[in-house]
Amino acid sequence: MSDVPLGRRPLISGNWKMNFDHHEALHATRDLGLRLLPADVSRLEVSVHPPFTDLRTVQSVLEPEGIPVALGAQNCAVEDSGAFTGEVSPLMLAKLHVDYVIVGHSERRRLFGETDDVVRAKVRAVMRNGMTPICCVGETIDEREAGLTEDRLAAQVEAAFQGTASEALAGVVIAYEPLWAIGSGTPATPEDAQAACRWIRGVVERCADPSAAACIRIQYGGSVTEETAEPILQGPDVDGALVGGASLDVGAFVGIIRAAARSRQ
Ligand code: PEP
Repeated sequence: MSDVPLGRRPLISGNWKMNFDHHEALHATRDLGLRLLPADVSRLEVSVHPPFTDLRTVQSVLEPEGIPVALGAQNCAVEDSGAFTGEVSPLMLAKLHVDYVIVGHSERRRLFGETDDVVRAKVRAVMRNGMTPICCVGETIDEREAGLTEDRLAAQVEAAFQGTASEALAGVVIAYEPLWAIGSGTPATPEDAQAACRWIRGVVERCADPSAAACIRIQYGGSVTEETAEPILQGPDVDGALVGGASLDVGAFVGIIRAAARSRQ
């Protein structure tokens, strides 16, 4: 779209969640590499977010085969090293050439008790190590029905980026992921997705500055499919998609990437 500022390349991210062992991840990555055409990625970026145990395998296919897909993680620790049994260091992710790290996914907040303070600490840990956070925010169905969507999004965005300098903020990615849409088979309408992404950009404008708000990329996530992607991604404030279930089917994921490319023509 002609009014998208330079540098705001849409980002289509596949969140594999806790799916695919390293053999399956290898196969899926090769398949993606075979299907993706240069035209598919000429105007946008793609990232995949495998489980931690697959990262090295996926990296060792993406890089030597020149597959135009960035490596992403689904989470990381707050600290770079130390006595934190079972945690995965952002420093070590950076060393594996991870570019993007999902932070504050609603499953992490809801199932693993991640608070806004933890999300902020993780956002900082990711940026400290030279990677880009994809910070997830979104309202529950109860909050939506109570008319609290805007308040909830503002609170989550402000908490996650409190104290972040405007220049750094300009490079981050925020994913608007309404909890009622994730895994439900029913995405937000294109109008609702655009309105929420526009609202989030306004929050950034108020708490940072207009230039950071103009640069920041805001994805939509929640039951995106090949069929629903294009109208959602046509929203002028929607800069890509975070895709869960549909990213596990390589053909469907490529279909979403192509729909995103069409939405920018
Ligand atoms: C997600 O969990 O980030 C997500 C968007 O999932 P789905 O596409 O399956 O709704």
